[in-house]
Amino acid sequence: MSAQKTPNKYVYLFNDYDEVMTRYDGEWDGVRGLLGGKGANLLDATRLGIPVPPGFTVTTEGCNDYLAAGEEFPADSWEQVLGAIASLESMTGKQFGNADNPLLVSCRSGARFSMPGMMDTILNIGLNDEIVEILATRTHRPRFAYDIYRRLVQMFGGVVMGVPDEVFEAVITAQRRESRAKVDADLDANAWKAVTIRFKEIIRTYTGKEFPNDPYEQLKQATEAVFRSWNGKRAIDYRNAAGIEHDLGTAVNIQTMVFGNIGDDSATGVFMSRNATTGEPQLEGDYLINAQGEDVVAGTRATLRIGQLKDDMPKMFEELEQIARRLEKHHRNMQDMEFTIEQGKLWLLQTRDGKRTAQAEVRIAVDMVNEGLISREEAVSRVQPDQVDFFLHPQLDPKALQDVKPIASGLNVSPGAAVGIIAFEPDLAERWAKEEGKNVILVRPETRPDDVHGMLAAKGVVTSKGGRTSHAALVARQFGKPAVVGVEEIEIDLDNHLMRIGEDLVIKEGESLSIDGNHGLIYYADLPTVVPDINNPSLIKILSWADDFRKLGVRANADYPDDAQRARDYGAEGIGLCRTEHMFFAEERLPIMQRMITASSPTERAEAIAGLLPMQRTDFEGLFRAMEGQPVIIRLLDPPLHEFLPSAHDLMLELTDLKLRMQHLSSLKEMDGVLEEIKTKTSLLERVETLSESNPMLGTRGVRLGMLIPGLYQMQVQAIFEAACRCATDGVEVHPEVMIPLVSHVGELESMVDPLTEVADKVMAEQGVNVEKMFGTMIEIPRAALTAGEIANTAEFFSFGTNDLTQTTYGISRDDAETGFLVHYLQTRLLKDNPFTSIDPEGVGRLMQIAIDEGKESREDLEIGVCGEHGGDPKSIHLCHKLGVDYVSCSPFRVPIARLAAAHAALEDL
Ligand code: PEP
Ligand code: MG
Repeated sequence: MSAQKTPNKYVYLFNDYDEVMTRYDGEWDGVRGLLGGKGANLLDATRLGIPVPPGFTVTTEGCNDYLAAGEEFPADSWEQVLGAIASLESMTGKQFGNADNPLLVSCRSGARFSMPGMMDTILNIGLNDEIVEILATRTHRPRFAYDIYRRLVQMFGGVVMGVPDEVFEAVITAQRRESRAKVDADLDANAWKAVTIRFKEIIRTYTGKEFPNDPYEQLKQATEAVFRSWNGKRAIDYRNAAGIEHDLGTAVNIQTMVFGNIGDDSATGVFMSRNATTGEPQLEGDYLINAQGEDVVAGTRATLRIGQLKDDMPKMFEELEQIARRLEKHHRNMQDMEFTIEQGKLWLLQTRDGKRTAQAEVRIAVDMVNEGLISREEAVSRVQPDQVDFFLHPQLDPKALQDVKPIASGLNVSPGAAVGIIAFEPDLAERWAKEEGKNVILVRPETRPDDVHGMLAAKGVVTSKGGRTSHAALVARQFGKPAVVGVEEIEIDLDNHLMRIGEDLVIKEGESLSIDGNHGLIYYADLPTVVPDINNPSLIKILSWADDFRKLGVRANADYPDDAQRARDYGAEGIGLCRTEHMFFAEERLPIMQRMITASSPTERAEAIAGLLPMQRTDFEGLFRAMEGQPVIIRLLDPPLHEFLPSAHDLMLELTDLKLRMQHLSSLKEMDGVLEEIKTKTSLLERVETLSESNPMLGTRGVRLGMLIPGLYQMQVQAIFEAACRCATDGVEVHPEVMIPLVSHVGELESMVDPLTEVADKVMAEQGVNVEKMFGTMIEIPRAALTAGEIANTAEFFSFGTNDLTQTTYGISRDDAETGFLVHYLQTRLLKDNPFTSIDPEGVGRLMQIAIDEGKESREDLEIGVCGEHGGDPKSIHLCHKLGVDYVSCSPFRVPIARLAAAHAALEDL
């Protein structure tokens, strides 16, 4: 938003609302840009009639022009500041620099976005050696006068003149010792007077300059210090990290001082309009009687809970409640405010939208709808997907976190907290967890596919290497395991079963660790956790409203009945993908599967397939029952065969061992046994070598496997329909959808669907039951997307396998890329997003669009879903909504997030 620049208008009073709004045609964004967040909010509160101490803002344009002119005030700007000071004088009846009735002001920075690293605050500007004397006498409060003066000298000396604050604090500590004072509050006027004299001497010694005695000079230097702090290193670093532009500049807010430390009818505090932890609708905060603002945050005095003010100063409390209500109504959001009570008069110093926990966010959103403050749409839009994530995982108890510090940090790749003892080896993690019932954290340099059993057994995972796309990160997310990866400070010594952090800290296997996957933090402690409740009533309400708004359906990727049940509890409307290959990894099934693959005759193979049939039937029956009444997509076997077979390398080693053993055996019986074993292993090795492929992920997978071993898919379809008929006979409503993977040519599908339909029809005829069914395909190869019109003549539904579609569209291996060049591409921002996390809209998204358009042209009622990992990613969900997909399917843990993200996408269209 840019408005015409009003020449030479650098200063606006807090009550210049109309003038500023006119300049920006009522665009609040423009006002915020000019006055900064703090200044704009004070302008607004003043207009609402909230008692804000009079003040003014020097604009961000003033800052930019000052910096552009080589740190010179632009023409007329200083005169405008002087004019504004004169206005404050007439509003308050006080005079800046006048000893009899001095006007004192604060000076604060205030950029458009709240930004650490900027100069913060100087209070009590306008005091000097003469004024403080008279103030002390006239108010009869010498302690008050000298205390506020030393605060000015201390803050000014620190932030404007660059003296390290520790030096000033050291003086105060020494003075306390000398005066036998326990806390600052025990120091009297003389003590503060002495401290101030010393402060000035320190300033002189450190900087070679005097603390300015002239109030106008103080104001000028403070304003310039704020302007310059925009280009301070910390501020620039922060802007670089947060992606904030460098040319916005900061505003400066000059405001009349009010004092909470003039006696027992004065106070100061901070408060929120609602409880920021739970969201309960009552004021929450702290205050101190007879104190200045920083005493409340400094923690040197025990603060009082804001509820106590109701007894201490009932009228003031009532006024605070009114202000909170008023500001909430205006901002339609919970407010975080600072106030001061000066001799029985309440002043508001600052207000902004309050930060809050996920629990508070959902509660406040729902309450505000019930109170008529916001619409349901707004409530749903406010809750962010990662806040929903919070309810799905245990969290470290915030109370316990007050007393501990993390020992290391890394990437927060999988949310939730985990606490347990360290195991450096996956086998050990599994043994400790399974056999001894211990909670374990698996700590590895990085993980590989053969570490998965250890990851599954562990409560959480830490790696010292790897990024967001590392194996550890992907697997942890998939299984809902909290994980922190790339913790570079950790040096793991696998040989000695220990890890080092820095020079001194050595942590051994078996010791306790707590990890916070939300923030990527590691604690060397056994911390308590809290388990947020997915059944939180406010969350349920928000998600049910989200369901009313969203257009996209949400299904789950689930392979087992209890996965399916969880998905359903989380609101899934069906199963979008059951990967049947996952059903064959179980220990008792693997040998049958291996026999089927390595069979040397059709009979042997048929026997093995027949052995798998009853197992599959039970699997499917469980799924159908769990998802009663909802669609269940079962994908016929997909993965490369080598995943089921032992590696050739391992077999060779075993054979060498066996042959060596032969030489040392003395019993003929034993020799016969070993010889037999050698024969079996040799023929297995031969089969493994025959089946081996250079690129198995692009090899005999999916439908290609179905074409080569037709009996396999037929067995699966028979099992699906026998299970479906059994359920239907028991009165369970079933909707099986049979999905054929990795199709690239319509011919593959055509040659599959007819015989499989025959199998299904035969089962139904035998059982005398008819169930509604569909045959469809995955679209996960670009050729399938480009020929979707033809494919849809046979397929009744499409499901985009965006994992493989990303792999094949980019021509990059989904197994290797994320530990290699892709990381570099992401670091150098060649790619904005990891295409395996968020669908690449221009490439993969375009193919999807073609497939959707051409598929629907062939078959109007074609059902279209997405079942790759992207189905649970909010950004991808937005894209799917735009493309006109019918549903997304994701892991059960992501279902609530997908429901909310789908609603956000729909609300954006309104
Ligand atoms: C896909 O490719 O997106 C998909 C869901 O299948 P898989 O990840 O099992 O290959
Ligand atoms: Mg796939």
